[in-house]
Amino acid sequence: SPGHRPDSQLGELRLSGVSRAYGAHIALQPLDLTIRGGEFVALLGPSGCGKTTALNCLAGLLPLTTGEITLDGRRIDTLPPEKRGFGMVFQNYALFPHLTVRANVAFGLKMRGIGKSEIRRRVDDVLQLVRLTEHAHKHPGQLSGGQQQRVAIARAIVMEPPLVLMDEPLSNLDAALRLEMRSEIRRIHQEFGLTTLYVTHDQEEALSLADRLVVLHTGRVSQIGTPAELYERPADPHVAAFMGYRNLLELEVVSADAEGALVEGRGVRLRGTPVAGCTVAAGDRVSVAVRPEDVRTAGPGEECAAEAVAEIVEYHGRQLHVEARTRTGDRIHFKTGDQVRPGDTVALAVRPERALVFRVEAR
Ligand code: ATP
Repeated sequence: SPGHRPDSQLGELRLSGVSRAYGAHIALQPLDLTIRGGEFVALLGPSGCGKTTALNCLAGLLPLTTGEITLDGRRIDTLPPEKRGFGMVFQNYALFPHLTVRANVAFGLKMRGIGKSEIRRRVDDVLQLVRLTEHAHKHPGQLSGGQQQRVAIARAIVMEPPLVLMDEPLSNLDAALRLEMRSEIRRIHQEFGLTTLYVTHDQEEALSLADRLVVLHTGRVSQIGTPAELYERPADPHVAAFMGYRNLLELEVVSADAEGALVEGRGVRLRGTPVAGCTVAAGDRVSVAVRPEDVRTAGPGEECAAEAVAEIVEYHGRQLHVEARTRTGDRIHFKTGDQVRPGDTVALAVRPERALVFRVEAR
């Protein structure tokens, strides 16, 4: 590979109790997070959850209200942005329009006073890595959106930063290009041995790119884990919703034992599994999360969790995606290989281990 790897490999970046308030409004609750060298960490959450605030605190663009940040044990939260030396890639690429691709990528190295031949070598390496060698002489205005985004990435990584911060870098691209650039970013990350913190509200993007995800909800960490951990064992209904558990039902516990919980309400009755660390008892209010692919049409004689009328039926190749409504008006999404038409009444079933039970409030 053209991979001349950065000399200044990050060992560990640590955020301890990092928070940020705007007046009385706490945009980011105290956050503890350790990012190891070479890791790709995604900060995921809906609009307004505090992602950009966290990123800007890390970059040095916003002062912390509390907490500290260390890079390999050295305190850095007191340093201005340029002294932290992080690379940054944003959705508006912020390239110099009057400079060629090569000059854009070389700019930071020149500012640093690095010699001509070393600049040439490093820029060549990085342009090859992001596959822009043939476009080196062009101006940004002559490039596609994806190519411009690759210049922005090249410009950040040519500096060999200990950490690259990316804030929704793909949101200005169309769907096809977004997919292409997603795998490009992953490839560049691996080949260059980058350490990356990537902010997005796109669950699929985060799951496909990151080694670990940090899910934020109203300024607070809901969960930190690998994609598989979050997907299989979401810690709360917010994470579940983000991980594709589209069915979130508010129900009540009828009975509970070591095997699980029987829950019901609003015409729905099913067995579910309380998530780790959550015990439930009869009478508790709970949220039950189920993925559409885990809801099936019940076979003859099988215990049925709910009856619903199919309203919207979408064709997706071998499967239909169905949105159905129960008698009480609640929506249930499911996927099926059966023939279902709008207006059909369907009996639905869910395997107990696929219905995750979260207690709504503390007893
Ligand atoms: P988005 O994806 O929409 O950019 P976000 O998750 O990045 O959202 P932030 O921009 O970090 O969210 O904002 C977190 C919270 O802080 C929001 O409630 C926002 O309204 C508030 N906030 C952000 N900047 C300021 C500011 N300068 N003054 C006051 N409140 C702010």
